[in-house]
Amino acid sequence: MISAPSPNFDNRVSPPDMIVLHYTGMRTGDEALARMTDAEAKVSAHYMIEEDGRLYSLVSEERRAWHAGVSFWKGATDINAASIGIELVNPGHEFGYRAFPDAQIEALIELMDDIRSRWTVPENRILGHSDVAPARKTDPGELFPWKRLAQAGHGVWVEPAGAPGAPLAEGDEGAGVFAMQAGLTRIGYDCAPSGKFDAQTTTVVRAFQRHWLQTRVDGIADGETRARLVAVLRA
Ligand SMILES: [Zn+2]
Repeated sequence: MISAPSPNFDNRVSPPDMIVLHYTGMRTGDEALARMTDAEAKVSAHYMIEEDGRLYSLVSEERRAWHAGVSFWKGATDINAASIGIELVNPGHEFGYRAFPDAQIEALIELMDDIRSRWTVPENRILGHSDVAPARKTDPGELFPWKRLAQAGHGVWVEPAGAPGAPLAEGDEGAGVFAMQAGLTRIGYDCAPSGKFDAQTTTVVRAFQRHWLQTRVDGIADGETRARLVAVLRA
């Protein structure tokens, strides 16, 4: 582990019980590191992992790092206070989104083994930035290997259900939409049930898909999307 102390942190009031994964979304890891250690930038994470697996420690896990911004999960909005933030070096959707190399994911799994030996982090509180800030963020994105992470013992994954069913999409209204929104809310998303499939619902469905149905990130809740939603609720 390489020490790269960041001045961008403050105090926690309670132990972390959540892990939020990010990509850096900058051209290089060095650029991201420079930004996260710049006092002017006021952003940070606890860790950054390079594509070759090099692990940088920026902020002590005991402290509150500044990675999540305006966020929401299960009614809570100070996600920085609740979480440990890990940045994975990747240019992201803006600069050339690409697969996360094995060495990087292996280092991440090892780090998560360590973190979870120190803190109690439930499986359903291992999330992406896009899960807690769906309207603003798309990281770590649809190439992030959530399934592999779950196979290594971290986080919730559900298998394809092959479920047919009429798609629900923006503009639709009714009990089916209400039930789906209630399910997304129970998982943790900011999607208060109204029975109206509005723009925010599309955004949240897209975030759900980016995590649990990565081949279909279109914001349309087809049968498979809804089946996986139910499976995540049961997991
Ligand atoms: Zn992020």
